[in-house]
Amino acid sequence: MKVYTQNKYESEAILVKVVEVFEKHGITPNPMNFLVWYEYFLANNSKLIAVLDNAMQNRDGYTNTLGVRLYEEFLKEQQADTSDLERAFRRLLERMVSKLMDWTKNMDSHTQELDHYVNQLSSRQDIDPEMLRNLTGSVLSTTKSIVATQSEMQQDMVAATKHIAKLQKELEDARAEAMTDMLTKLANRRWFEQDLDIAIQATKENNRLAVILCDIDFFKKFNDSYGHQIGDAVLRFISGILKKSVEPSQLVARIGGEEFAILVPNATVEEAFTLAEHLRHKVEISHLKRKDTGETIGNITISLGVASYRMGEDWDSLYTRADKALYESKETGRNKTTLAPL
Ligand code: GH3
Ligand code: MG
Ligand code: MG
Repeated sequence: MKVYTQNKYESEAILVKVVEVFEKHGITPNPMNFLVWYEYFLANNSKLIAVLDNAMQNRDGYTNTLGVRLYEEFLKEQQADTSDLERAFRRLLERMVSKLMDWTKNMDSHTQELDHYVNQLSSRQDIDPEMLRNLTGSVLSTTKSIVATQSEMQQDMVAATKHIAKLQKELEDARAEAMTDMLTKLANRRWFEQDLDIAIQATKENNRLAVILCDIDFFKKFNDSYGHQIGDAVLRFISGILKKSVEPSQLVARIGGEEFAILVPNATVEEAFTLAEHLRHKVEISHLKRKDTGETIGNITISLGVASYRMGEDWDSLYTRADKALYESKETGRNKTTLAPL
């Protein structure tokens, strides 16, 4: 989580400005837009400010799509760190441990009291009714205290358990979000790198592993002629095709603007190449229509590079070889798949 160091008054002043802009321009007050505009009024990030200033001069003004883009570009990585939640967890645990210690101390002193009464009873033969009454009274009151302490402790424990479950859920959600690409809901680069690392560690001699990298052809031209919003729709569309065309064990990730990676475990180089060609073909024959005009959006194609794991190499080397193969596909005509030398 990005650490914001503003004090209460500074934060409030910024929030007032954010609310004013939201009202004035009819901006959806969702947490993501809040973060983007909070960052704007913090005035530390000149790039984000320039983009927003520019957008506000345009006819469309600020849109949620722009918000997603800015969040992805400037805020997401910073948000990905979950240390604030982890700190909250630790604090809660510390509090529970200290409560448990208080409780144990309390129980100890009660037990000592009871021991004391039992000793009094057993050490004397001549207990008169008055003394017995007193002792019984004391034992009763100590027992009551024990019951009270116990039920208080139980309530504390129930509350803390609920609190922990809630924090845990938040932590899991934050972790999942930090590993997911917001626009396409695919795994992001971080997730891909982590899984690739794990897959390499698990790879044995005959248990092959391959990486497919793919990049949309001439996507810039596409954005230029149809606009960024349709560009985003295309990214989601291609993501859907890729995701639908792989097995559950194969991870599809968006690792950059218009670049995707597929982790292909347990596959020979031929199988990985066949899958890459299948993906390329699927995209080539697809037709995406504009919702507003029904117009078919012109040929979208992808270029791909495939590299099969060489025993002993690290993930960086495997990735670089796939990237070189992809580059070769681009250089030699696009809409094709190149296999990295084995
Ligand atoms: P090439 O065939 O060589 O890959 O050409 P290209 O135009 O696809 O490659 P280039 O790297 O020159 O441009 C990539 C473009 O992708 C630039 C940018 O406008 C676009 N892009 C990157 N991320 C996004 C995004 O999140 N949304 C949209 N709409 N466009 C994006
Ligand atoms: Mg690219
Ligand atoms: Mg491209």
